[in-house]
Amino acid sequence: MTPPGWHPAFARKHCKERFLDHLFFLETDHCRLCGRSAPRRSAVGSPHRFGMHLLLRVCPFCLQDITKISLDPALRHLPLPPLVAAGRGSRRGFHVKPLGVLGAMPYQGPLVAMIRAWKYDGAIELTDWFGMALVTVALGASGGALAPDWIVPVPTSPDRLSKRGYDQAYLLAAVLAREISAPVLPALIKENRHGGFTESQTSKSQSERMQALEGQIELARAGAEVAGKRVLLVDDVVTTGSTMAACASALYQAGAADVMGAAVAYVP
Ligand SMILES: [Zn+2]
Repeated sequence: MTPPGWHPAFARKHCKERFLDHLFFLETDHCRLCGRSAPRRSAVGSPHRFGMHLLLRVCPFCLQDITKISLDPALRHLPLPPLVAAGRGSRRGFHVKPLGVLGAMPYQGPLVAMIRAWKYDGAIELTDWFGMALVTVALGASGGALAPDWIVPVPTSPDRLSKRGYDQAYLLAAVLAREISAPVLPALIKENRHGGFTESQTSKSQSERMQALEGQIELARAGAEVAGKRVLLVDDVVTTGSTMAACASALYQAGAADVMGAAVAYVP
């Protein structure tokens, strides 16, 4: 059975690779972060204060870099558009408060290679490490009283899921769920992009990005469950915050009482 957040083809490939790892006890492989030769299946010691063991093949050079990464949380407030199509007529045009988005670490230095390996290169082993970083920061910011009713991952489009093999935001949400005992709710879905809308959005203005995203992010069937609830919205990296804002907007439209965003990394 495919675990939630995984694409079946990726899960099969991952399983087969782990099996081959056990069969053929090769001495070296390549570092997952820089590509240099590295001891195979070296469980590198705790690189962080979370006491986690990072089961990732990394070379001594990258390991040295990783140990320098430390938490440096930042909280941003993103303005949200007024609610235009709320379920109840009385909430039409209602101004919701700005979305607070907490980021655990600045997206710079060795963290960039780690996040890339995690998002694009199948280094699924990093999910726990990132998840624990986020839990530590979120608990710190809330004074240890982090108690959302739902944890909602920022959605990935079906195209992207089949290309990458897994939904890293969902897996991240699952780590948070385990640590703070709150359930994950895939309340949102993201449509595939169709023509005329490219990966590069840097030239678009904030409002253009927001508009384009709003059309892509929709409420899933499970989304009705957010009505009247406190939601923690989680993602890997927050860049301009447009995606988070579009998601929060959709959750408020569905009647969520309060939405808070949290991401592993933020662009400083
Ligand atoms: Zn390396």
